[in-house]
Parts: sequence; structure tokens; C-alpha cells
Amino acid sequence: MQSSISLSLSSPSTVCRSDCSAVASNANVTLLTSPRSLRFCGLRREAFGFKSLNSSVHTRFQSSKTTRLSCSNRIAASLGGNGAPSKGFDYDLVIIGAGVGGHGAALHAVEKGLKTAIIEGDVVGGTCVNRGCVPSKALLAVSGRMRELQNEHHMKSFGLQVAAAGYDRQGVADHANNLASKIRSNLTNSMKALGVDILTGFGTILGPQKVKYGDTVITAKDIIIATGSVPSVPKGIEVDGKTVITSDHALKLEFVPQWIAIVGSGYIGLEFSDVYTALGSEVTFVEALDQLMPGFDPEIGKLAQRVLINPRKIDYHTGVFASKITPAKDGKPVTIELIDAKTKELKDTLEVDAALIATGRAPFTQGLGLENINVQTQRGFIPVDERMCVIDANGELVPHLYCIGDANGKMMLAHAASAQGISVVEQVTGKDHILNHLSIPAACFTHPEISMVGLTEPQAREKAEKEGFEIGIAKTSFKANTKALAENEGEGIAKMIYRPDNGEILGVHIFGMHAADLIHEASNAIAMGTRIQDIKFAVHAHPTLSEVIDELFKAAKVKAYTSSPVAEPVAA
Ligand SMILES: Cc1cc2nc3c(=O)[nH]c(=O)nc-3n(C[C@H](O)[C@H](O)[C@H](O)COP(=O)(O)OP(=O)(O)OC[C@H]3O[C@@H](n4cnc5c(N)ncnc54)[C@H](O)[C@@H]3O)c2cc1C
Repeated sequence: MQSSISLSLSSPSTVCRSDCSAVASNANVTLLTSPRSLRFCGLRREAFGFKSLNSSVHTRFQSSKTTRLSCSNRIAASLGGNGAPSKGFDYDLVIIGAGVGGHGAALHAVEKGLKTAIIEGDVVGGTCVNRGCVPSKALLAVSGRMRELQNEHHMKSFGLQVAAAGYDRQGVADHANNLASKIRSNLTNSMKALGVDILTGFGTILGPQKVKYGDTVITAKDIIIATGSVPSVPKGIEVDGKTVITSDHALKLEFVPQWIAIVGSGYIGLEFSDVYTALGSEVTFVEALDQLMPGFDPEIGKLAQRVLINPRKIDYHTGVFASKITPAKDGKPVTIELIDAKTKELKDTLEVDAALIATGRAPFTQGLGLENINVQTQRGFIPVDERMCVIDANGELVPHLYCIGDANGKMMLAHAASAQGISVVEQVTGKDHILNHLSIPAACFTHPEISMVGLTEPQAREKAEKEGFEIGIAKTSFKANTKALAENEGEGIAKMIYRPDNGEILGVHIFGMHAADLIHEASNAIAMGTRIQDIKFAVHAHPTLSEVIDELFKAAKVKAYTSSPVAEPVAA
């Protein structure tokens, strides 16, 4: 699930998330009608320090500068008066980047009484809300329903008769866009209501405890960098935003190609394959490694391939790189040159209607002023210790400076970013806190879903060999679960890797209906250090999917006895 591919600076098209050229051709109008995308382009350009611009771009730059100046003031006064800052500082805490990581940190900081500001150069919500989790889950909600309605056998088994299912592309796209707007305004309002100052502008660190946004310089006792990531596009791939696209473009669903190549079979590529095939596209995966879905537990990956890939209109090429991709032009299709991942010899050339580049995410840390505090990125990521404290070029911790979320590359997930932010706030308010990343769950929202927490089986075997302990594997099937069978969704398994000697849960992997919701019992158990011999006595409602997990705990063969004390009985 982690991405470590660095951002290619050579291609401006990889830098700008929205359509900059359209903005450039109509700068003044766009300034009035669509400040969002204009600011966005401005943010990226400022970050990359583009100074010499041609005349049309010059107009655009001036416009975006005007926008920045006009909105580099505080836009949300402290309604709730979020405390007085520490002596000598404007704020106790300044967060750069109002994605989910920054948002989570800001809310917790106010709860802890810190005078808090958050700087955002684009729109509140960052990747997750505007170009990630939120719109993609809206599209997946549609693909799930389409899949169900199109499955005549499935419908008949319920005794249901449904006329041919169809969809309105714009209606589906609107659903995703409306959801993103709604969640964006929820996030903004939640911060305003608590009195977080939302400062609009591009944030740059000037020195210790000093940040600039727009033309304004502010000081803070502690600073959190939460600047997130952008799609990573390998060299040789030309993104035109129409026929060769990244997830940023695909989420707008401007068209549904008949045949689309998806480069990369990680969770983002897999989710899009679910969407596109449900809407009628044929998909070809291009994967550099020898197997599809390389990040998943191999056994779960195999089952997922049997259910999510093989019966659908999907084929794939593994062990190959897409070395050159050229957008469709003048009636010619998109062409993709595939080279052997090992020998680098040309293996094949594909001609498709569209290509989606899902090769990972690159941290967005440029233009942050890291040189002012002697911090060097590692493949773009900001180095941090286990407490998210930033490490400088000499290996020393930078006092009062933290980095959370995609920008540090520890675990590129929304809830991980938010949890890291909360952990930092705990520390700066006097409580030492280290987040256990092995307890953070991850999910892929295909139909059915995949979820996981902790180690995969190969990782657990490696650890066991190194540290000298045995591992046990417990499995249960959705086929034996009443609720799953009532839903005609018996396809799926849950698998737990554990230590039989002491009952420690090392990893849990689920493939099946609502797997993403089911994983939390296991992830909470890992986070709390709960042992299997204790949790197996917890009672689950019948009939629910959670009984799959109940069965999993009960199936484990733990040698240790029950270790938890009996809780105080609750009055009947
Ligand atoms: C298609 C897709 C689907 C995804 N689905 C899921 C999912 O289902 N579940 C999940 O957990 N994760 C998912 N993710 C990943 C998730 O979106 C990210 O892990 C998460 O958004 C990271 O949060 P963040 O706060 O670190 O950064 P971001 O959300 O990227 O926010 C960073 C913010 O900082 C701003 N910024 C950057 N530099 C500056 C600066 N110098 N000054 C001011 N502002 C700045 C940016 O404009 C942005 O708003 C998905 C991602 C994609 C692309």
C-alpha cells in the first residue's frame, strides 16, 4: 500500500492536477468563476519556483498572484476562540496542508486547547476528499449496484426480476462530485466551528518556528507539515488528461472508454477496474511485477484474482513496464510500448482507447522551504522518526517540526495521516505517544472488498524465523456465514496469522462482503494488545458478518490460557 515512486519534475503535466491550459486561455474569467482550479495551478507553479513564463502564462501567473494576495488573509476567524497562544508566538500549532491529516490534527489540537491555524494552498480536504477516497467510493457505490443489477443469476436467486440496468454517465459523475463538495464543506465547517484559523496561501517554512503564507509571516511553537502527495507518472508517459489520465482525471468520469489499460495493479488500479468494468469497459492491466496485486497477502491476492479479475472483461500483462505511452491523436488510438521488466526488451505494443496511470503517489514537498531548516528529502519524502519528528540532513531531530501523512511516506492512507496528526498533538501537549502502524487497517473497496491489518503471511514467516517463534494460520469462510448466505454473497475468506505460544495477532486479511468494515475488530485488538485467548470469548450478534471474525478467533489454536481479568459485572 505504500508508494515510494518519486515525482518526475521533467513533465509539467504531472505537476498540475487540473487543466492549467484551459485556465491560461481565459485567466480573468476563470478567476471569477473558478478560483479553485486557478489557485491550484498557482500552488503547483509556486512550489516548483517557475519564474520565467511566456506571455500567456504570465497573464495566468499575475491572476493567480492576485488570487493568492486577496485570500492570503485569515478566512475563518476563531469563532470558538481556540485559546491564547504560547508567549511570543502567533499560534501554538500551525499545520501546513488541510487534507485529512491536517484536519485530524487541527481538530484534536483545538480539543487540547491549542491556538491552531491551518494553511491551505488549494481547497480544504486535500487528496482524500477532492481527488481520492471520497469520489472514488462514490463511483464504487455505483459500480456495486450496477454489478448487482446486471447479474441476472444473482437477482433470480432472490426471486427478483429487473429490467436491463443502465446508467447516465453525467449522473454518476455528479454523484461523485456532489459527495466531494459535501464532505469538503463538512470538513471546513467543522474547523470553523471549533475556531481553527484557516489561512489560504502557499505555506513555506522560513526557519525554526516560522512560516510564510502569501505575504504574511507567522510564528508557531510547533509546526506540522501535512502537504500530502500527487499522482506519480513514470518517465516516457505523456499525460494529456483526456485519453492518458491519472486518478485525478478519472474521478471526474468525463468519459467511459471502451477499452482502457490500467498501468499498476495496486489498490487504486484495482478499484478503478471495478468501476470501469461495471460501466461496460474492457480493462487491460499492465503490472511491472510478476503477479497482480503485489501488495496483498498472496493467498488473498490469488482468490481476489479468481473473483475480481478472471470472470470479468479484464486481461493483464505482468513482468512488463509501460515504457512509452502516447495519447490518442488525429484518429489514432493511445499506444503503449511494453518492455520486459528484467531484460528491458520491447515485448508488445498495445493500442487502446485510454490509459489510466495508477503507478503510485509521489510526496508533494517541493517549495516548502526545507533547505531553510537543513532538511533533505529522501526520494521526495520527508524523513521522520517514529514520533513523526522531522530528521535533518545531519540525522538530528528538528525541534518543534513534525511531518504527517503521505508526505512522510510511512503509510499512504487517509486514516493513517489523521492518526499520525493526533499522535503529534498528544506529544506536543505533553503525552508521549507512538502510533503502532502495524495496527492500522487498509482496505480496497472492490466488490467484494479486501481488507487487511498487520503482516502478510510471508512477512510473518520472515519475522518468525528471525525471532525464533512459530506461527499459526486460522481461516474461516463466508460460505458458512448465515448473513452472507442470505445476501447470496458467500464468496470470501478471512485469514489470521498469529503466535500459538502467546496468542498475539500478527495479521488479519479478509476478502468478502463488507471486509472493510469487518477488519476493525482485529485492528483494535492489535492496537490494544488484546490476545486471541481473550477476544475469542467476546460475543457477536447473530446473524451478522462479524461472526466470520468470531469464528476466526475461535479457530485459532492458542497454547496460552486466558489472561484477562474478569471485568466488573454490569448491573442487569
Ligand atoms: C484515487 C484514490 C483513492 C484513495 N482511496 C483511499 C481510501 O479509500 N482510503 C484511504 O485511507 N486512503 C485513500 N487514498 C489515499 C488518501 O487520499 C491519502 O492517503 C490522504 O489523502 C493523505 O492525506 P494527507 O493529509 O497526507 O495529504 P493530502 O490529502 O494530499 O492533503 C495535502 C494538502 O496540502 C496542501 N498543500 C500542499 N503543499 C502545500 C503548501 N506548501 N502550502 C499549503 N498547502 C499545501 C494540498 O493542496 C492538499 O490540500 C486514496 C487516494 C487516491 C488517489
